[in-house]
Amino acid sequence: MPLNICEIFYSLQGESTFSGLPCVFVRLTGCNLDCTWCDTLYAKKEGALMEIEEIISKVRTFGCGLVEITGGEPLIQKDTSILVDKLLNLGYQVLVETNGTIAIDNISARCIRIVDIKCPSSGELSRNLLQNIDLLGENDEIKFVIANRTDYEFARNLIINTELQKLGALRIHLSPVYGEIQPEILASWILDDRLGARLSMQLHKLIWHPDKRGV
Ligand code: SF4
Repeated sequence: MPLNICEIFYSLQGESTFSGLPCVFVRLTGCNLDCTWCDTLYAKKEGALMEIEEIISKVRTFGCGLVEITGGEPLIQKDTSILVDKLLNLGYQVLVETNGTIAIDNISARCIRIVDIKCPSSGELSRNLLQNIDLLGENDEIKFVIANRTDYEFARNLIINTELQKLGALRIHLSPVYGEIQPEILASWILDDRLGARLSMQLHKLIWHPDKRGV
């Protein structure tokens, strides 16, 4: 049961409640979307097949208990759930970051599922599978990537008017698109509205060069 893997690397987690913690990243190849501001275009094509045991052996070499499965879009490969289960069974804490267009119920609720909801500026608004909101467990997280006021108002509307509120502000992330919107503008909107969400910066882009890979 091989998976197409773009890269496996060790860095700091940068976009969730785990932000700042050492983490092993398993980036899977391929994506079913074409977001306008995609910052991992290389992950859509670059990759090589690896057996799941081979992936786990590589993860082990880093000696780190936190693993994030990301992409691309990891859920387009049907055996991703098997990798997640095996890592969980080995005692790893597992985060799965997904673009929110595929049902998350195939991925164990024992991991933390970090689910994007695509905003209008992504160009992929119509692909959101909003039924995922009903599938979220109490430890899961939601991320909106925000490029402008229209995106913010879209996110605000969903946060206020849907079951997303059950996650609480801690687990609802509003992340400014790097280079598109000043974080302080998004911060002021959140504060003005007393919105139950958190400003979430892409930590790796603040620490390292924004185009640097493998961090
Ligand atoms: S879902 Fe992620 S990887 Fe896919 S196009 Fe959008 S930003 Fe890029």
